[in-house]
Amino acid sequence: MANKVTIRAIAYRTPETTVRFERICPWCGATAMAEVPSVISFSCACACGAIALGAPACDFDEVVDAMLNHFRIAEAPADRYQLALPWLAGAGIEHQFAGVGERCPLGDVYWYWFRARLGYS
Ligand SMILES: [Zn+2]
Repeated sequence: MANKVTIRAIAYRTPETTVRFERICPWCGATAMAEVPSVISFSCACACGAIALGAPACDFDEVVDAMLNHFRIAEAPADRYQLALPWLAGAGIEHQFAGVGERCPLGDVYWYWFRARLGYS
């Protein structure tokens, strides 16, 4: 009897950008140097509560999953791995593409900023 292996394929495309990722928080302007706990993607955390997560384009699902865990979002739509993430606004999360950073074995690391919208609960 053959084992059934489920492989979740994520369609992705490489963001078109030449913007370099700097650790400057887009909301408060501070330099984010702390790491985000319990994430497998590249990360940095700002004192204002914003976080930046980075991964090569093929691992964008890691960024989304880490963000969902960090902000404790229990329910996410099936298209949550779309780069534009339009559903996030409804979940109370602001996001911005942050640019391209270091290279890792799987390619360039693309970074994204996230924060919980102020006053959202
Ligand atoms: Zn900040």
